[in-house]
Amino acid sequence: MGDWFQTIVDVQATPQEAETLAADVRSWLISSGIVSAEPTHCVLGADVGHPPGPRAETAVDPSGWSVPWHDGLAITVGRTVFDAGQGDPMAVTCPHCSTTTHLADERFELKYEVWEPFREVVRGWDEGDDIVIACPACTQPVEPTSWRWTDDYFVLAYLGFTFWNWPPLRPQFVDDLARHLADHRTVLLEGKL
Ligand SMILES: [Zn+2]
Repeated sequence: MGDWFQTIVDVQATPQEAETLAADVRSWLISSGIVSAEPTHCVLGADVGHPPGPRAETAVDPSGWSVPWHDGLAITVGRTVFDAGQGDPMAVTCPHCSTTTHLADERFELKYEVWEPFREVVRGWDEGDDIVIACPACTQPVEPTSWRWTDDYFVLAYLGFTFWNWPPLRPQFVDDLARHLADHRTVLLEGKL
């Protein structure tokens, strides 16, 4: 059995405010007992994270899960490609004309000539470059963070909260967390490694 994660991504946080917002949410999660203050080796993809706190169960729907669980929360600050971990991106939608460009064929294999410029956008974000390409349909330039990936396959952003191997997060909890992000729009990514 692999590891699974749920990541709440703040898609509106600027690089300037990401650190402060991360600290605010961390304080709230600790004071409400969702996670513990003392960082431990409880997450993947980062050195340390916050293990579940005494009231962690209030954040999740534990039915069907063996509780307690032990893995924790990793907070990511800074330019990041958040993704769902498996498979290929299927399609991407332009924020200007709402046209969806299909990146894969009917056998779910990537069409490389279509995918290539979008691959550059994602790679660029990972490496610190803002690569602006034109929408294939309306030809207007699109900022890297503005593309809407089908099933939120990618989210290019500056702040994310990844819960490793937690039971499904309650929608109410996700809303509460977003409220501590200045009511920013958030995306919940779920995936397996
Ligand atoms: Zn367009």
